[in-house]
Amino acid sequence: MRLPRPSLLGAFSLLSFLLIAALGITLGLVLQSRIERRALLDAERLAEVVTRVGVYPHLAPRELRGGQLSADRITELNVALRGSLVEDARMARVKLYAVDGHVLWSDDPRFIGEDAWSETGYRRALSGRTVSSVDDADGRRLLEVYVPLRARIGRPVEGVLETYLPYEPVARAVAEDTWRLFAVLGAGLVLLYATLFRIVAGASRRLRRQALHDALTGLPNRVLLHGRTERAIANARRTGRTAALLLIDLDRFKEVNDTLGHDHGDELLVQVSRRLSAIIRRGDLLARLGGDEFAVLLAEVPHRGVVAEVAARLHQALERPFELRGVAVDLEASVGVALSPVHGDDVSTLLRRADVAMYEAKRSRARIETYDFERDPYSPERLSLLAELRRALDEDELVLHYQPKISLNTGAVIGVEALVRWEHPQRGLLGPGEFVPLAERTGMVADLTRWVLDRAVGQCAAWRAAGLDLPVAVNLAAGNIVDSALPEFAAATLERYGVPGNRLECEISEHTVMSDPHRAGDVLGSLRDLGVRLSLDDFGKGQSSLSYLKRLPLDEVKIDRSFIMGMADDDDDAAIVRSTIDLARHLGLEVVAEGVETEEIVDGLRDLRCDIAQGFHFSRPLPSDSLRAWFDEHTRTVGA
Ligand code: C2E
Ligand code: CA
Ligand code: CA
Repeated sequence: MRLPRPSLLGAFSLLSFLLIAALGITLGLVLQSRIERRALLDAERLAEVVTRVGVYPHLAPRELRGGQLSADRITELNVALRGSLVEDARMARVKLYAVDGHVLWSDDPRFIGEDAWSETGYRRALSGRTVSSVDDADGRRLLEVYVPLRARIGRPVEGVLETYLPYEPVARAVAEDTWRLFAVLGAGLVLLYATLFRIVAGASRRLRRQALHDALTGLPNRVLLHGRTERAIANARRTGRTAALLLIDLDRFKEVNDTLGHDHGDELLVQVSRRLSAIIRRGDLLARLGGDEFAVLLAEVPHRGVVAEVAARLHQALERPFELRGVAVDLEASVGVALSPVHGDDVSTLLRRADVAMYEAKRSRARIETYDFERDPYSPERLSLLAELRRALDEDELVLHYQPKISLNTGAVIGVEALVRWEHPQRGLLGPGEFVPLAERTGMVADLTRWVLDRAVGQCAAWRAAGLDLPVAVNLAAGNIVDSALPEFAAATLERYGVPGNRLECEISEHTVMSDPHRAGDVLGSLRDLGVRLSLDDFGKGQSSLSYLKRLPLDEVKIDRSFIMGMADDDDDAAIVRSTIDLARHLGLEVVAEGVETEEIVDGLRDLRCDIAQGFHFSRPLPSDSLRAWFDEHTRTVGA
């Protein structure tokens, strides 16, 4: 296990604590020895006072020279010192030495005559200084003070007076003072430490906030987002859940900034951040990455629906106009979504992929896009799939399945739609949704459609040769209808297989046509000139007006399956189907209902006088052999 690195504040508090503690201890020790020294000095002063008032009035120092005191002197000293003075000063013992170290007098006569030459204190006092020390005697601690005796300062020392004081009271006083000192010192230092800590903690908190937040909006910044995303990814990996990263980019912010000025731009960003914040739940994170880019981290999402919902709400929140000092400003946002672990399990990959999705949302004008590796020019998955798709085209891994279109009046099969599939050697049968969009975005769709046209027309010819004259429809992509060489290719193919142009139909989705109506018109016109029928696919999804589409050379409209599927339960869908049928009729177009799955829908469509239907109710798209078998069976039942 790695220990967490101590924070700056942690390091500071530890270091300053150690320093202050060391300072406290040193100061305490110095002061304590001062106090002790003071106590000793006090004792020395006391001994000097005793000497001055107790000895000098009764004894001239020169009298000590003789090495002996007269009985009178001894009696006098006994009277002067032994009683009141010794007891008042609470002295334990008093001794008077001659310079040679003999005791000339003591309050206890037993000591008189004793030799004390070996006592160091006594000898030091001979140099003319009062000397003190602490000593253990008879199990008691005593304070010994030696006072030199002489006629005057500067004259020779004639003897030494030694007084013993019990050390306990002094020690007690010293301890008391020391304790008080330590208490005051300790309290002071604790206070100092606390104050310092508060200041530094506050400053560090502010610094940290500044380092992790955006100054303008106060939102978390990129650094904080990075850290939290890292944790969310790890958490998702552990729990098997999903984390989502959403990037939001304001589409017209630069314009506002340039026309209204930076102040207004800043204010707008603050307003944007407020609106977005209102949507973010606890546990999720809204960050500003800089400029007009924001990010939302959803740390744990139960399913993708939740992400889509949040993305939609974020997008919606910015749709309402903003007010900047009386001016209404319209913004639009693009949202890119990347999920972990599916789209990446490290922060930078996830961020990059959310960014790719965001640009895709801008480009496609879809506003919200989830990352799709097929659309990511840098994703290794896409590059390998692209290489594989090229190989699939060369090595015939693609197949066409055919789905019949049924006349609702007669029940007859009036044609088939060719739908491409990929028999992938590893991944099994892939639907067009898994590779057609990739082909569309890489220009490979030109080759793909040529392959489909060739196979579909070839199949048509084969059926015709076998007595089955079924028109085939192929789907064109956006890249195809601006491909001016395509009509020529179609003509050559029809000719090569000997199939009349009117046996081929091209389906173009409404969305596709609208991407470039002018050039689409040219290509579609040329196809029409070959006799090829044109069908408008997925009608209703793109919300374009049918009368505009009237300008295109169309023969047929296919109502998008979402409306057909919904018409039984949803009145709006039913109304759309009805009005589309009416309008198409009015414009002289045939109407195909796609996605017909039930008998009930068939009945409903009949009531609305819809011409043609296609859907699982009749048949799923089938390989050519199976379709032939289905066709024979179907014709038998209809005939009966
Ligand atoms: P589309 O042109 O709208 O094709 C009809 C799609 O609806 C087919 O899906 C078909 O299997 C499905 N479908 C048919 N009947 C029903 C039904 O009753 N219920 C439901 N739920 N679905 C039904 P498929 O084959 O997955 O194709 C999806 C789309 O891929 C097609 O939509 C078309 O836009 C595109 N596509 C297919 N083949 C080609 C192709 O060769 N070239 C191009 N450019 N696009 C193709
Ligand atoms: Ca179609
Ligand atoms: Ca369709």
